[in-house]
Amino acid sequence: EKIFSGFSKTRENLAVIDELLLYWNLADTDRVLDELEEALLVSDFGPKISMKIVDSLRDDILAGKLKSGNDIKEALKKSVLNLLTGKGGKTELQLGFRKPAVIMVVGVNGGGKTTSLGKLARRLKSEGVKVLMAAGDTFRAAASEQLEVWAERTGSEIVTAEGDKVKAPLVLSQAVKKGKEQGYGVVLCDTSGRLHTNYSLMEELVSCKKAVAKVIPGAPNEILLVLDGTTGLNMLPQAREFNEVVGVTGLILTKLDGSARGGCVVSVVDELGIPVKFIGVGEGVDDLQPFDAEAFVNAIFS
Ligand code: GDP
Repeated sequence: EKIFSGFSKTRENLAVIDELLLYWNLADTDRVLDELEEALLVSDFGPKISMKIVDSLRDDILAGKLKSGNDIKEALKKSVLNLLTGKGGKTELQLGFRKPAVIMVVGVNGGGKTTSLGKLARRLKSEGVKVLMAAGDTFRAAASEQLEVWAERTGSEIVTAEGDKVKAPLVLSQAVKKGKEQGYGVVLCDTSGRLHTNYSLMEELVSCKKAVAKVIPGAPNEILLVLDGTTGLNMLPQAREFNEVVGVTGLILTKLDGSARGGCVVSVVDELGIPVKFIGVGEGVDDLQPFDAEAFVNAIFS
């Protein structure tokens, strides 16, 4: 329901497709597909993906597989669904058997990283997991306090930097050590909300990953990139860069309850082969849902 209302603008942009397909006939295919491509572009699908979708529809129309406007609409939805689920890999968290599992949450400032980490703690706690948070955003002054509020709200323990000069990799390795010694199920690591163009902070992220792996070889189990669902095509360069630097294992797409512009996520999943694992649908503690590709597609195309 929430993403359905969040995508109302996208649906409005794509409503033209229904009109086009209502009067579609074979002779009119090129014009209709051109306009359909335009509607996808306006909805942030990006040029590469829009072309890919339209080309596959054209092939199927010319091969006689799609015989009505309705067939084309269904094929369009199926094609987006396939792009979202095809290469993306497992949408469930992959936490392995060794305790504690370590999840690092990364992303640019303001995307909803800390909030998502808090909501994730709530989900894990409700499954009976003992959760430890690590306040690894040592760059922004208020970040640690913000995370402490989330720790209290969710009944999680938290490790914070002791002193101004303590850097993120040390906080994370201390937390993972504590997690190991005291039998925690998951250590949730916050990181600085860096700009993807800020290189030294990206380097710090690499150090964070190494610090964690030093305590538990193979960790972190998951590196989740938080992407603001209202930013449209900016998502793609961000995701590329984070993936190149630290290797992202899953996406959290936030703010899908607002004026979401989620078309671009199809490009991110297709180009990088990283699955969306969760979506954020509000600011509350329970507003994180597992990603459901079918519900997502139905929210975009009514
Ligand atoms: P960070 O800088 O990436 O850690 O971002 P924050 O977690 O501080 O979130 C930035 C703002 O976005 C806050 O006001 C959050 O309440 C809000 N926010 C985060 N996730 C969502 C979401 O799924 N929906 C809505 N509506 N707001 C969100």
